[in-house]
Amino acid sequence: MARPLPPEQQHPETLAAQAGGYVDPVSGAVVPAIQPATTFVRGRNHETLSQTDYIRNHSPSWAPAEQLLARLEGGAEALLFSSGMAAVNAVVMALRPGDHIVLQESLYYGVRSWIRSFAEDWGLGLTLVDCSDLKQLQEAIQPGQTKLLWVETPSNPLWKLVDISAAASLAHEAGARLAVDNTVATPVLSRPLTLGADIVMHSATKYLNGHGDVLAGALVTARKDSFWSRIRSYRQHAGAVLGPFEAWLLLRGMRTLPLRVRRQCETAAALALRLNGHPALEAVLYPGLPNHPGHAVADRQMNGAFGGMLSLLVRGGEAAAIEVVKACHLFLPATSLGGVESLIEHRATVEGPESPVPRNLLRLSIGLEHIEDLAADLEQALSALG
Ligand code: PLP
Repeated sequence: MARPLPPEQQHPETLAAQAGGYVDPVSGAVVPAIQPATTFVRGRNHETLSQTDYIRNHSPSWAPAEQLLARLEGGAEALLFSSGMAAVNAVVMALRPGDHIVLQESLYYGVRSWIRSFAEDWGLGLTLVDCSDLKQLQEAIQPGQTKLLWVETPSNPLWKLVDISAAASLAHEAGARLAVDNTVATPVLSRPLTLGADIVMHSATKYLNGHGDVLAGALVTARKDSFWSRIRSYRQHAGAVLGPFEAWLLLRGMRTLPLRVRRQCETAAALALRLNGHPALEAVLYPGLPNHPGHAVADRQMNGAFGGMLSLLVRGGEAAAIEVVKACHLFLPATSLGGVESLIEHRATVEGPESPVPRNLLRLSIGLEHIEDLAADLEQALSALG
């Protein structure tokens, strides 16, 4: 009889569908139980009997989703957090005052504005730079001083690409770690740890869960070192932990991750092609289009597809862009991304008055609806501009 395929050799579809091979050791169930207990009894000599004595230290409900994510990313260990921002915070809090961060200029605005304000208050140095330009990136890194290079690729909302292998080499030569926000690419399309990154971060609220009903974050490490221990300790002591029910829902969502992402990519790519050159648009921003500045890197780095997110630059400025949002029937006017339903948002409004995003930009998160229905919705909304 053929020997079973070890998890390292299984495809993401197999790992995800079988939740990494999970079978409950007590009941034989193929779905993990939810363990809501906050405290766990000790033995006769007051010794701990299981992995945990208190839920903030460890919850048995985290393990299945953490192990599956670590396998999907090819990492040594994953940790769940109460949100994506809590996961970002854990990495930054593992630095020490005086350390320098190089942060990608164009990325999810919440990460940028929070690190900016926090870095100043806590004595961290910070340089913002366009990390899709390796020359600029190299110049921004201060050897010996820079301890963290933080990038998001493809990045919100222009979908710029960062060459992960090259960024990892530059970071390591200078004695820094590379952390990659892999929320948009997901491990289905890109596995930064296998390209040299040290830490991967996810807003698990997005594609990993995929159903718009869980707020969660995650980190995955290439190796368990002292930096990772500080991150682990931060989660425990700062209490940035995920509830058992959310962890359970997250695992359920992750079981269909590869299937959802592949379909979302197919639909996004087809929509981008159809809309490219539309008279009501100045541009379609999608890494799968050959004229996108990050196309070559995406082609190399993204495992045969280009993501489920695209942006439209509407002719006629902000007012025209908002008219398009109003005229959509299927695309829901809401923020966030990676869910089963398609969303459209005027990004500059969502980000607020400080936003550097072009005022005519609409960000689209492509869901699982039929391509023809989505295309028809956008066509009629754009034609309403007259
Ligand atoms: N990173 C990216 C790319 C995001 O899109 C988001 C949320 O929108 C975050 C991080 C923050 O995650 P959360 O909202 O789960 O705290």
